[in-house]
Amino acid sequence: MDSGEKISFSEGKLVVPDRPIVPYIEGDGIGPDIWRAAVMVIDGAIKKCWQERRQIIWKEVLAGEKAFKQTEQWLPQDTLDAFREFRVGIKGPLTTPVGKGIRSLNVTLRQKLDLYACVRPIRYFKGAPSPVKEPQKVEMVVFRENTEDVYAGLELESGAEETLALLHHLSETYGWHIRSDSAIGIKPISKTGSDRLIRAAIEFALEHQRRSVTLVHKGNIQKFTEGAFRNWGYELAKEAYPDRTISWEDVEGTPPASKVLIKDTIADIFFQQALTRPEDFDVIATMNLNGDYISDALAAQVGGVGMAPGANINYQKGYAIFEATHGTAPKYAGLDKVNPTSLILSGAMMLDHMGWSEAAILIEKGIEKAIAGKKVTYDLARLMEGAEEIPCSRFAEQVCEQMELA
Ligand code: NAD
Repeated sequence: MDSGEKISFSEGKLVVPDRPIVPYIEGDGIGPDIWRAAVMVIDGAIKKCWQERRQIIWKEVLAGEKAFKQTEQWLPQDTLDAFREFRVGIKGPLTTPVGKGIRSLNVTLRQKLDLYACVRPIRYFKGAPSPVKEPQKVEMVVFRENTEDVYAGLELESGAEETLALLHHLSETYGWHIRSDSAIGIKPISKTGSDRLIRAAIEFALEHQRRSVTLVHKGNIQKFTEGAFRNWGYELAKEAYPDRTISWEDVEGTPPASKVLIKDTIADIFFQQALTRPEDFDVIATMNLNGDYISDALAAQVGGVGMAPGANINYQKGYAIFEATHGTAPKYAGLDKVNPTSLILSGAMMLDHMGWSEAAILIEKGIEKAIAGKKVTYDLARLMEGAEEIPCSRFAEQVCEQMELA
């Protein structure tokens, strides 16, 4: 059996051998169904591009229910070690154990590997059902900060002793008189955390010839946190990319095509404009909570949860885990019924991240043609006029057939 080689990281770049070992977590619920479909398409695209010259050597690692059954641990140390050792991996959805000690397997993976950027590309595939009139204009990539904000888990319960002590301290020291039955949450937004996320968004825009990076924030109200995120973004672009970016303030007339335009918008207006003029937005950089809402709202415009891929990445260390963005949909587990597109496109993102972009493009083309052919899984079929419902595995075969013709 081919043992493969490790992906390494040198001078800020991944070094990818022709036979990289890539760890994968199959996932719970519908995980095995969509994983089988995704691996068929990913391997098929690589083979079509490079025949035997390149091949992923898949290495299964355990997490979730499968891990618990075999090891009595939800997230074994071996799994974390494998993602660290092999750097790039992919995962299906995982059950969040209720009341069993671990808050969320996904959150734990992100924290342990400091995967600070949650990247969600949103694009429309012609023919997919959409609630908006011109979904083809929605073409964005959201960079959501993954480690800070009110999401950091720094919360104190209403009435608890430490909460009352903090309220007392805030009242004495800052003159902040907060109701005594309040719960408290802390919203840290650091320059370090903001800079590295915005840098990733700008680098992506430069590498992929995107037109603009929009900083989305509520800095009009939350001046020292979200307002600072905005200001740090403009400063970073000016200092680190003076010749390759331009701030909207410095633009006269049409922005030069050779530079990435840096602009910002208030989060609530962004939600309106993403519906009324989505073509104005390209790469989005935002904080954790805004990013959570924005990613799902944009995904809804182009076909919903079954379609949207995602990744959690630490660009400074080269760690990246690509994932389906939906959950385990337990009622459909093992029925070969659900839409595998989210995980397939996450695989395409992974190939692009590895520098195997030809295979990524081929997969997107395959999906595009498969959807246009109107033979799709139940979630799309019930909303598409004249469509025929086919199983998950058949959909993947069809994507492979379309790639063969490309
Ligand atoms: P879910 O995404 O699993 O399912 C909600 C509904 O969306 C399903 O009933 C189904 O109708 C539809 N759906 C989801 N994926 C689909 C697909 N690929 N194709 C077609 N339809 C699809 O969300 P939930 O029911 O809130 O969560 C179930 C479990 O998944 C929970 O344990 C939750 O913690 C976990 N979860 C995991 C992740 C992850 O691992 N990234 C994300 C969200 C939820």
